[in-house]
Amino acid sequence: MADGGEQRMDLPEKEWRERLSPEQYHVLREAGTEPPFAGRYVHNHETGEYRCAGCGELLFTSDSKYDSGSGWPSFTQPAASTIVEHADTSHGMRRVEVRCAKCDGHLGHLFPDGPGPTGLRYCINSAALDFRNDK
Ligand code: FE
Repeated sequence: MADGGEQRMDLPEKEWRERLSPEQYHVLREAGTEPPFAGRYVHNHETGEYRCAGCGELLFTSDSKYDSGSGWPSFTQPAASTIVEHADTSHGMRRVEVRCAKCDGHLGHLFPDGPGPTGLRYCINSAALDFRNDK
């Protein structure tokens, strides 16, 4: 990978607070969830890459983005093996949490109700993403 995929990025929480906006910090470092339809990428249909807002790692491309109607940016598959899954039993639910493999930032959740061959829906907070247009 061009930007050194396997390397971990492990910063003290104080440094994350300095680097990230309060909204990004809440999602990435405190596993927060932005309100539905509030994020800036929900309706983004441009062609490009979605990178981790914490560390810049490539997470998704626009090819796998689709409109799930959920109110959060939704993808059918990650761009590479840069996402790790964790069991999440918070809020009385049994869910699969997805995090960035490089910086361990919380991204969102993975649900088995997606379209197409994967049948997966990666439900991701806009605040965890940094979109870069292809142009
Ligand atoms: Fe990251």
